[in-house]
Amino acid sequence: NMASLFEQEIQTLTGVGEKRAKLFHKLGVFSVGALLRFYPRIYEDWSQPFTIEQAPFGVPCAIRAVVLHKPIETRIRKGMTLYKTSVTDGMRDLQLTFFNNPYIVNALTEGKEYIFYGKVSGTLLRKEMSVPEFYPVSSAPSVCPIYRQTEGLSTRMISNAVKHALALLPEQVKDPIPYDIRMQYHLCELKYALEQIHFPDSMESMKIAKKRLVFEELLTLQLGLLELKYRKKQETSLPPFIDYCNEFFQLLPFTPTSAQKRAISEAMADMTNPKKRSPMSRLVQGDVGSGKTAVAAALCYSVIKNDVQAALMAPTEILAQQHYASISDILKDTGISVGLLTGSVTPAKKRKLLEQLQDGSIQMVIGTHALISETVAFKNLGLVITDEQHRFGVAQRSLLAEKGNHPHMLVMSATPIPRTLALIIYGDLDISVLDELPPGRQTIETYAISSRKRARALQYIRTHLDAGQQAYIICPLVEESTNDMASVVQYANALQTETFPDKVIGTLHGKMKPKEKDTVMTAFANGKIDVLVSTTVVEVGVDVPNAVIILIENAERYGLSQLHQLRGRVGRGNKKSTCILVSDVQNEEAIARLKILCSTSDGFRIADEDLRLRGPGDFFGEKQHGLPDLKIANMAEDMEVLKKAQSAARHVLSCDPKLEQPEHQGLKGQIKRLFSVFGGQGFH
Ligand code: ADP
Ligand code: MG
Repeated sequence: NMASLFEQEIQTLTGVGEKRAKLFHKLGVFSVGALLRFYPRIYEDWSQPFTIEQAPFGVPCAIRAVVLHKPIETRIRKGMTLYKTSVTDGMRDLQLTFFNNPYIVNALTEGKEYIFYGKVSGTLLRKEMSVPEFYPVSSAPSVCPIYRQTEGLSTRMISNAVKHALALLPEQVKDPIPYDIRMQYHLCELKYALEQIHFPDSMESMKIAKKRLVFEELLTLQLGLLELKYRKKQETSLPPFIDYCNEFFQLLPFTPTSAQKRAISEAMADMTNPKKRSPMSRLVQGDVGSGKTAVAAALCYSVIKNDVQAALMAPTEILAQQHYASISDILKDTGISVGLLTGSVTPAKKRKLLEQLQDGSIQMVIGTHALISETVAFKNLGLVITDEQHRFGVAQRSLLAEKGNHPHMLVMSATPIPRTLALIIYGDLDISVLDELPPGRQTIETYAISSRKRARALQYIRTHLDAGQQAYIICPLVEESTNDMASVVQYANALQTETFPDKVIGTLHGKMKPKEKDTVMTAFANGKIDVLVSTTVVEVGVDVPNAVIILIENAERYGLSQLHQLRGRVGRGNKKSTCILVSDVQNEEAIARLKILCSTSDGFRIADEDLRLRGPGDFFGEKQHGLPDLKIANMAEDMEVLKKAQSAARHVLSCDPKLEQPEHQGLKGQIKRLFSVFGGQGFH
């Protein structure tokens, strides 16, 4: 059956030796099953060839024509030989060129008819095609799939391997999607889908196959996400808590905002209710600077007073340290002991800490991913909080929760997303919103300028640097700038040698190791770096109150919500802060978008505008939400299917909440594979 093909190594396929297997591994394909799920990237339609006259310029298309003569070889220089030939469709001729491919001389036979596929170039009078693909008319496919390739592994080789893999499928493949769901949503069977997605008879049959595979993937995703909902049906062994938050408020150096109070009491209501015996699963969404840390701290304090432990997980070392510093400070006179667990804690300290977590002498722990490692165990974990949740996978979240016996769970996010999308992304988490900033917070003055005014902006930055303040500069690229895009490394060099020779310039980007990033970020937070030139990796909520200006190059390249996040790096203290958006785009829509940022600081309004102007793509963008990688579905484009898959998932879970029935075993396997990053956790 299909599942066992996932156990069968790719190397066992005919024609796949050790070397080729390595190339498949590069593409993330390790098993025969994974190869069948390695879908083509695009399809070329060879079924309706153009006449040479009608063939459009510059767009890939098929042409049916007869070869007029054997390709002729011309050596134009060392290492470069051209092969040229002409073909005709009876009305017009087309010139074909191939490079360094002696095999072509015999591959094309004079007088024989072929289908050529490529882009037409040249002039109206003399049309040409460079390096077309071709098949004799008699054996040409009607649709030609193209795979994601890697050097040494071409589409044809992949296609061949897939052919062998398909042959291993039994006559009857067990379909993971139950029969009634297939009927209800008009989905074809798995075997047909796999055959047609790889070797389509026509564009239509490919679409039928794709529809099913997209549905299957989104159904799997939704089932995995709805695990969070399933949590709600579980019984927690924790007793109803008593609310100690008012006591906690006395410890704060400020008065909580009413939004903070509301979020806290919503969460406390989940945990104090004697009738509701399921654990809390709640998302707190709050704009940057809205004070999520205090919400987390209040809840931790309250549950710890109820004699259980609390854990707070942050995505980076420096964020964990900041949380540790600020929360230990608030809790210093309460007798509550707080521990810090990150990758760089010394082994001796770590051993001690692990003991204390296990015997309960530490009541609260703050840390990074290190918290989910196997060696960590708690005496009585009652509350798990994940900060900046989009940096974590769904699986990581649940791994931490599994260290307790159905503990309460809170996730915090600074990415405001419209409610409709939140429901899809987070399954059925309850949502609390912090829609208010603490009083006295200055709005960040935001300006959009063209690059002609850059020099002036840098002078403005200098006056602040001279006053001992700091600045961020954001560039889209890392090393090499292009004509119209700035890179971190080159920009930083130019600043250091020309503009600010007397200042310390630091750089930060995704090609650096996590440790290096942390070192730079810590140096900046401690004021040892004056200007930090960075890619968008600075996004996550580190607090540097002394940084008062952020200048963003190529601002048109980012979604509004992302720009808003970036802007939130400044204005963390009580000093007036400024955001400068540099962009040379002329396009009115892009200008209108930047103006929205200049005119409002309300993250939710910005998110709504972003959704309206650019569609949901940005919200599902790269790794934004810790969701697993999808192979065929595109959440932005397949929103409608996503909704259907969600209701199908609900239906499945309502009949079989633990997916125990035989007809759901296929789906269960799929979920495990989709969420497999951390050992296939997800469903229990
Ligand atoms: P975020 O929601 O971005 O995580 P933080 O929790 O880091 O925000 O809070 C940002 C800053 O605002 C911190 O310095 C925090 O001490 C401060 N703060 C939080 N709540 C309040 C409040 N109610 N009044 C005044 N300052 C507050
Ligand atoms: Mg935060």
